[in-house]
Amino acid sequence: MDLATLWYLTTGTAVLAAIMTFWERKGHGQRSRELGLWASAYGVFTLGCILAIHRWELPGISGLAISNVVMMLGYLLVLQGALALDRRRLHPALICGLLAAIGSIWFAAGPGAAGLLWNHVSAFPIAVVSGLTALVLLRSRTARPLRSRPVAVAVFACHALFYAARSFLVPVVASIHGEEVLALVAEITMYEAVLFTVAMPMSLLALVREEDRASLLASARTDFLTGLYNRQGFFELVPRRLGDAGADAPHALLAFDLDHFKAINDRHGHDAGDRILRLFADIAREAAGPGSMSARLGGEEFAILLSDVTGADAHAIGQDIARRFTEAAVRHDGPGIPATVSIGLAEANGREADLTTLLAAADRALYRAKMLGRNRIEIAPPEPIAKAA
Ligand code: GH3
Ligand code: MG
Ligand code: MG
Repeated sequence: MDLATLWYLTTGTAVLAAIMTFWERKGHGQRSRELGLWASAYGVFTLGCILAIHRWELPGISGLAISNVVMMLGYLLVLQGALALDRRRLHPALICGLLAAIGSIWFAAGPGAAGLLWNHVSAFPIAVVSGLTALVLLRSRTARPLRSRPVAVAVFACHALFYAARSFLVPVVASIHGEEVLALVAEITMYEAVLFTVAMPMSLLALVREEDRASLLASARTDFLTGLYNRQGFFELVPRRLGDAGADAPHALLAFDLDHFKAINDRHGHDAGDRILRLFADIAREAAGPGSMSARLGGEEFAILLSDVTGADAHAIGQDIARRFTEAAVRHDGPGIPATVSIGLAEANGREADLTTLLAAADRALYRAKMLGRNRIEIAPPEPIAKAA
């Protein structure tokens, strides 16, 4: 393999990665810092490659030293971008100190040690920083839920292992089989560099794109006013929850409709109505607990799915929500508006539970609660709840 061609290929892919990542930055406002750092890193790698190609044209070992220091800056910027995903960072003074130390080692060691430094020693800081980047991505709170995280971690872990081998394994192999091993290692190094400059930007960009897509999906499933699931989110996620539940797990569905809400709007204004809706949502979310799924299905209608909760417990939770809501709504430090809610409760067991059937049953019970005078909870009879065969 022609080493020079591989160097030019690496330079070209680094330039493209810098341009594409910089361009992508415009479309991801929330991650513009990370993408900016990574784009700068690829730009720095490009400069490092150009310096490395011309390293013998500079006086003494300065070409080798400068290109090595520039490459290290690239790796540290990549790490800085990975840290920024969780709002962390390396202090710029630490980065400058590290680079100054690496530069000093080159000039202190002098031309006699140039081969040792270029082939082995300089690989060690690259292994450490790439290993740290893999670790940061592995432990990142932001990256944890993303499917592309293992790919990014693997890209940096493999690069770290390869450079660790160059530092520690290759000197041993070279001492046994002779210096010609180094020529082969140089070819493999450049081949790996081409792959790495493609895989690194792809995997980092995948993280940002996937995170963006996940947040769009979450906002499409969220009710803007209350922060609960909206109808779409509820109908997408509840069937999954029911399908994942144990064969005999009890489920309960509470359907809520605020009483005379139109009159509240008419009397106190739409903003006060909105405040009441938010108050109800906050109380319902808290009372239902973290294992539940709460939604605003539309207007002043809400629903809560309680998994692994018996009908009796769901009844108590419904009553608790109604009581707390009425007390909080009328308080002077709250909206100061008398408000009540009517509730329908339906139950089902195990995977037989079906959201449409469950909601229809809870709605019928809710209708009965309205008919019986509002501000009360009614339980659906068990028969109509089982899914039709
Ligand atoms: P009932 O006790 O029978 O449920 O009577 P109601 O007045 O609550 O029922 P109705 O369906 O007649 O009225 C619901 C009202 O909810 C009408 C609508 O103006 C109001 N509403 C719907 N969405 C919103 C919203 O986002 N904010 C506010 N403030 N009001 C809303
Ligand atoms: Mg209604
Ligand atoms: Mg109503």
